[in-house]
Amino acid sequence: MTTAAQPAHTRILLKLSGEALMGDDAFGINRSTIERMVSEIAEVVGLGVQVAVVIGGGNIFRGVAGGAEGMDRATADYMGMLATVMNSLALADAMNRQGLTARVMSAIDIQQVVEPYVRPKALQYLEEGKVIVFAAGTGNPFFTTDTAAALRGAEIGAQVVLKATKVDGVYTADPMKDPTATRYAQLSFDEAMVRNLGIMDATAFALCRDQKLPIRVFSIARPGALKRVVMGEDEGTLVYA
Ligand code: UDP
Repeated sequence: MTTAAQPAHTRILLKLSGEALMGDDAFGINRSTIERMVSEIAEVVGLGVQVAVVIGGGNIFRGVAGGAEGMDRATADYMGMLATVMNSLALADAMNRQGLTARVMSAIDIQQVVEPYVRPKALQYLEEGKVIVFAAGTGNPFFTTDTAAALRGAEIGAQVVLKATKVDGVYTADPMKDPTATRYAQLSFDEAMVRNLGIMDATAFALCRDQKLPIRVFSIARPGALKRVVMGEDEGTLVYA
């Protein structure tokens, strides 16, 4: 008797950059791109995997970047965090439309719009099979949503942080510029540091490394890539402790 393959991970933290929602647009949210992304997420939820998402704000922030130039850094960062709230609402809405049950939890208190992040509640949602979208990053300026992904990933006991990028993994050199560049299937945190591979910003990277929380870098643009990652197939690059 053959049994269906089981997912390699049962709880994941997926980090999407805001730009992942743009498609080919210059900024903002592209409808078909967000819908396609949600179907990829729905596929892994269907496998019984508990999914939490952290989304960036770059796509929206681009639209206001001109005005933010020369601004006080902390104020601009709060604007960036608010941009992630917009993306989180759009993502959760698209998830609910596709039959998932999504909950947005914000690191900044804006209770009329979304509920605040409360760790036990987040854990309860995951156990109930709901998808959580963590909004407003860490809630603090001078951080990034990569750090929020590492932080929330560690807090909820995710087995891996999946960092979705445009490139399908970590390469020996920039594959857009150097055709001889090859993809690492896996490498350790120490190797990534020695080779200065810039997988996440330094704070996020250090947090994952200290917590022995593996990171997998992969391309969300490749159809089925998220499912292959979850099934433990050779997709993207695994950075391990
Ligand atoms: N941000 C912040 N603290 C956080 C997370 C985000 O101040 O904990 C701000 C910061 O200005 C950042 C912006 O929100 O540039 C958007 O986040 P990020 O750059 O990570 O988004 P992405 O580039 O992944 O879309």
